[in-house]
Amino acid sequence: MDNCLAAAPQRPAWLTARGERTLRWLRRSLIVALLAYTATTVPGVRGEAGYNAVLDGWLQNAVLIAATLLMFLRVCLVRRDRLQWVLLGIGVGLYTAGDTIYFAWVQFQTPLPYPSIADVLWLAVYPFLYAGLVIACRHRIDMPRRTVWLDSVVAALGMSAVAAMAISVILHHTNGSTRQILTTISYPIGDLLLLVLVVGAYGLLEWRPDRMLSYLGIGIALFAAADTIFLLRLSTGTYVVGTPLDATWVWACVVIACAALRPPARKASMGFHGWTILIVPTMFALSSLGLLVYGSIRRLPLLTVGLATVALVCAILRAGATFREVQQLARTRDIQARTDALTGLGNRRLFHEALLRRIDALSAGDRFAVMFLDLDHFKEVNDSLGHSFGDRLLVDIGQRLTQHVRGTDVLVRLGGDEFAVLLDHSSRTSAEQIAHRLRADIQRSFVFDGITIHTDVSVGIAMCPDVATTADGLMQRADLAMYEAKVDRRGCVVYSAVDHDDLTSRMRLIQELRTALTDGQLVMHYQPKIDLQSGRLEGVEALVRWDHPDLGLLFPDSFIPEAERYGLMRALTTSVLTLALDQAREWQTAGTPTTMAINISASNLLDVELPEQIDTMLRIRGLEANLLTVEVTESTLMIDPLRATTVLNALRKTGVRVSVDDYGTGYSSLARLRDLPVDELKLDRSFIAHIDDDKRFAAIVTSTVELAHALGLTLVAEGIETVEALQRVSDFGCDIGQGYHISRPMPAEELTEWLRRSAVPDSQPAA
Ligand code: C2E
Ligand code: MG
Ligand code: MG
Repeated sequence: MDNCLAAAPQRPAWLTARGERTLRWLRRSLIVALLAYTATTVPGVRGEAGYNAVLDGWLQNAVLIAATLLMFLRVCLVRRDRLQWVLLGIGVGLYTAGDTIYFAWVQFQTPLPYPSIADVLWLAVYPFLYAGLVIACRHRIDMPRRTVWLDSVVAALGMSAVAAMAISVILHHTNGSTRQILTTISYPIGDLLLLVLVVGAYGLLEWRPDRMLSYLGIGIALFAAADTIFLLRLSTGTYVVGTPLDATWVWACVVIACAALRPPARKASMGFHGWTILIVPTMFALSSLGLLVYGSIRRLPLLTVGLATVALVCAILRAGATFREVQQLARTRDIQARTDALTGLGNRRLFHEALLRRIDALSAGDRFAVMFLDLDHFKEVNDSLGHSFGDRLLVDIGQRLTQHVRGTDVLVRLGGDEFAVLLDHSSRTSAEQIAHRLRADIQRSFVFDGITIHTDVSVGIAMCPDVATTADGLMQRADLAMYEAKVDRRGCVVYSAVDHDDLTSRMRLIQELRTALTDGQLVMHYQPKIDLQSGRLEGVEALVRWDHPDLGLLFPDSFIPEAERYGLMRALTTSVLTLALDQAREWQTAGTPTTMAINISASNLLDVELPEQIDTMLRIRGLEANLLTVEVTESTLMIDPLRATTVLNALRKTGVRVSVDDYGTGYSSLARLRDLPVDELKLDRSFIAHIDDDKRFAAIVTSTVELAHALGLTLVAEGIETVEALQRVSDFGCDIGQGYHISRPMPAEELTEWLRRSAVPDSQPAA
């Protein structure tokens, strides 16, 4: 009650500002008048008990009129729930009218007429309150479950049984004419009907009525209490005007009026709320049982016995329904726990269980296949078109896949863009055939809202019992095969036991490399390059090493190819660039600026963001772009020459130099190289290694030098391991030399020391 009477701190959304001001003013006046009137009914306050025209006439009716006004004001100000408040307002209004007439006229009649005009008005209150309450409940209650209905019925019947007994006791003591008895008994019966409705509604709301319905319930309960006490007083001839009993009716009207200040109704959401929802119906079921036990000892009115019996029968029905509901719930939960919410297919748990069952039932000569499917480029669909598109795509893919599985097969979505199929009684060949059919179906376009989406799927197959006979083993192998299919773009791979060790160690390596990249386990070694004419240091080549926690220093050949295959090159190159450029800056700051060559791979060459990334990294460190050379192997260049040209052009535009590494090992002709944006050729070390003992290699080197110079390119000879080789490449006109004879690659600190020692090296530096 306090909540609705206290001034609201914020205007409710359903009221206008003016409406709120008016209601607040009226509410305050109502409180003041109600408290004043109530105070005068406290025994001893008004001196002598009995009728007082000012208090019981004017003041009491003023409060009631204000309550009625408050309700109609709401009707005028707020459109929502208007009918309900019109009916309830008329109810309170009729009560007020009855009260006014009683004090103004009826009470002075001798003898008191039964029913008087005031009685007629008061009794007319019930149909309006009832109708208003019904509408209020309808606004709040959605179609509830059967058990909830039964709870309300048990509660309503149980309460009626108790009330029927109470009324019969009162009647037993009442003297007077039949008209008088009928009139006075009509009130508690009317109250009882209202209370049954309220209790039933509370039951349907699972005993969590909102404030508005609570106020209405309290108001009606106050009416019922006042009417019952009045009936008792009347029957014993002890009723006196001006006591707290009179105030109780007024409070009942005010509380009902206060309900009008609550916000409009919202439908309640029904759900399970534990055992607490059973408290009230259980109470009434027990009271009915108590009445029946009492009835077996003492005589009880037939109506009481009847109502209590029906209440108990309903309670028993409710127990039965609860049992079934719990069973059903357990079944539903079971299904939900094994269903993928998005596609409606089974989930990983269901698949695992199905696998276990199938493995258990495996007989001699029996085979089946486990197939893992992973969509290609699903992330791009999600990122570019949004998650709702991604979800629709997954649902449609689930439907397409469903068409390819038989009744005994199990198709599930494992999560994300991964699906799995258990192909029952399947040979390797038929599993592959089904995989190809599935892929062909997924490759057909999907159209959503006019947008066409193309996708593909990589499939891994593991045969049971050929490669594993445990659920986890089969799933792991199908997963590995799927990964292989994806990485190598082979579409479908059947797992072979021969590959197992290789595959698992490769997976472990990739996993460890991911950690290495974030944990800073990569280190750089630098190998000097010298100008063959002057013997001066021309620059260094940065070569990556992995300082593996268990295996020690690993060379690039053991992890670069895997990083390339499993999509880690971008991250790896970023780490390399960071380490190398930080070092270049350090040397620059120390007054020994050195050109730095770094190696990039095929996937870097297709990364159109690389030039900008490098440019930013250089600028952040205040390094000149021509300090950096990017080395690309000849074979890499030829994978996608067009795209490579775009990226290299962009790189050169920033001032970075481009070098073709391991030149001579690929199939590119110098003529083709002319069209590529390169500054330097690094002749592969296989040519230099045999330069002394094989004249043909010497001829290749000399002709390459000539052609390179003709094209305006610098020629680097790499792999110089001997003093003779150094002399030869120098004689043949190579511009720059690199190799173990000059220096092995080494950490930066060692190189700094090396630089210091051989500040101006002669043409034959120490190895
Ligand atoms: P590369 O770019 O041709 O680098 C030269 C390789 O030859 C280095 O091997 C170097 O140690 C080795 N080498 C240098 N002088 C001699 C010599 O006189 N004799 C012999 N036999 N070898 C010599 P490393 O460091 O093992 O690198 C191997 C390859 O790994 C590199 O060949 C390069 O293609 C790749 N690589 C190295 N670091 C990176 C990197 O950071 N990113 C990328 N994408 N690839 C890298
Ligand atoms: Mg290189
Ligand atoms: Mg090389």
